[in-house]
Amino acid sequence: MRCAICYRKAKGYGWFNPRLKPSDPNRYSDKWVFCSRRCQDAFCLLMTKTEARMIDPSDMELAAMRACLSPLGEYVGSIGMERPLADYTREEVLALIDVVVTAYQDQMIEEHEIMAAKDRAFLEERLARQGQTSPKGVPF
Ligand SMILES: [Zn+2]
Repeated sequence: MRCAICYRKAKGYGWFNPRLKPSDPNRYSDKWVFCSRRCQDAFCLLMTKTEARMIDPSDMELAAMRACLSPLGEYVGSIGMERPLADYTREEVLALIDVVVTAYQDQMIEEHEIMAAKDRAFLEERLARQGQTSPKGVPF
């Protein structure tokens, strides 16, 4: 089990949603485990701020995160893999954020365009089928 905050090995710290009844299965999650009190507190603060509405990323969001890896690696490689983040200039950090956010948004737009194209194709096929049958339909 990995810590939900830092991905180190979880060590017996957990969390449950006190807003839900004990009988509600969403009150608990095996993903809400932590390595330390510090990570547990960070998660607790986040859940309090978001009123426990934080949700797991969708498959589309996970794909968008993975799409950031290559541009992120390229950017970090271009300014020096061995340089610690603390040594980055403000402009370099802003450029890094821009690279990641742009890659994430581009992937999300692409996924939504693919979904929209599938919906459109489905609707056009249905309309075409209706168009074929109506002239041969029952005369009124
Ligand atoms: Zn942790």
